[in-house]
Amino acid sequence: MSRISYVDGKYVEHENAYVHVEDRGYVFADGVYEVALVINDVLIDWKEHCERLQNSLDGLKIDYQVSMFELESIVKELASRNNLNDAMIYLQITRGVAPRLHQFPKSDVKPVLSMTVSPFKLPSNESSNGVKAITLPDLRWKLRHYKTISLLPNTMAKQEAVEAGAEEAILYEEDGTVTEGSSTNVFIVDKEGCLFTHPANKSILGGITRMGVVNVAREDGINVKEEPFSLGILKEAKEVFITSTTKHVLPITNIDGKKVADGEVGQVTKKIIELYSKYINKQL
Ligand code: PMP
Repeated sequence: MSRISYVDGKYVEHENAYVHVEDRGYVFADGVYEVALVINDVLIDWKEHCERLQNSLDGLKIDYQVSMFELESIVKELASRNNLNDAMIYLQITRGVAPRLHQFPKSDVKPVLSMTVSPFKLPSNESSNGVKAITLPDLRWKLRHYKTISLLPNTMAKQEAVEAGAEEAILYEEDGTVTEGSSTNVFIVDKEGCLFTHPANKSILGGITRMGVVNVAREDGINVKEEPFSLGILKEAKEVFITSTTKHVLPITNIDGKKVADGEVGQVTKKIIELYSKYINKQL
């Protein structure tokens, strides 16, 4: 069976899934995206992904009204055409095709929606021994709450991590404030068992997983502070973990070549993995 993708209203063979050479996404990275999961034919946290997508579109002034149901039907059709019950979906919306001028084109230019699906199984991090991270300066622009396809600083940071044998690059501002990972949000646990994560403001992408983790932790009576913390505090944390749609809740046990605490996955992290897995399973 051949792989099928979706480009601008059409389901096409993946090898023929092209966008125009003057698509502003291609020329200027002028577009937004989402990554979401389908598990057992269910779209996980779909409403939240659609809300964030609309927020990113509005932030970039791309004239596109997200319809949760319309997008869901495309996702389901695409998953079905690819014979997938469990999948990762990537969707992006660019401003559209127009002659290459920096200013936005006139309003008759139609945004271009494209979508791909690929087989995906959620990692079972219950048995994870934790992974390594490195720290790097955050070189991105200042509107990081919009999920734009302009990801070069993120990809360069991830590449440095991979070259260092690490899973993620944790980023920090010039003043030493930890923002997030190159494609994840970062949590730490202090000596009192309190969770800290950067507030969901313009300095980070407000992860859907981050939000889920904050909610399930609070519901369980775990103290969560959405407050910035420094690189120094990160390195002295009792526990560290990262979150994202595809990585779930992933323990970090080594940062810049040094163990986090005793180098073992901590109890609070284990509890969060359990609580978050239950939260996902409830949607199925
Ligand atoms: N921060 C950044 C920079 C990301 O790219 C991502 C994943 N796209 C996240 C955080 C995590 O977001 P989510 O939990 O919605 O996948």
